[in-house]
Amino acid sequence: MATDSDVLYPPRPEPDALTQFFWDGVNEHKLLIQRCSNGHYIHWPKIVCRFCLSTDLAPAEVSGRGQVATFTQPVQPFHPYFQQHPGYVLAVIELVEQPHLTLVSNVVDVAAEDVRVGMPVEVTFREVAPGFTLPLFRPAATGS
Ligand SMILES: [Zn+2]
Repeated sequence: MATDSDVLYPPRPEPDALTQFFWDGVNEHKLLIQRCSNGHYIHWPKIVCRFCLSTDLAPAEVSGRGQVATFTQPVQPFHPYFQQHPGYVLAVIELVEQPHLTLVSNVVDVAAEDVRVGMPVEVTFREVAPGFTLPLFRPAATGS
């Protein structure tokens, strides 16, 4: 049976040993991406670098800057929270640190019809429920 909290709050991630650092970083308003000792970024985190097979991996803070690689506006939300937020933009963000280094997020602070592939964006940390912060992306400030 649905409760008020099911309706009001988005589903939460369930971090494991590999992904805990990412969410710890988000809680400190830092975007941390796993990086190997040879400088390759990897997301989502793995136990071995897919580029060089290094197992010497550690979280590294990135700039939070990127661009919209692709996006959509879901029209059939799968969760009650999203039914309360029609028109949100689900996007794949490519970070500036490495080609094809992407993560899935939302684009905020811009009308959905104004979102474009290639739009420069920057991370913004938003508390979407009490004690639950997500890394979202907004249009990058001009001149940055
Ligand atoms: Zn590597």
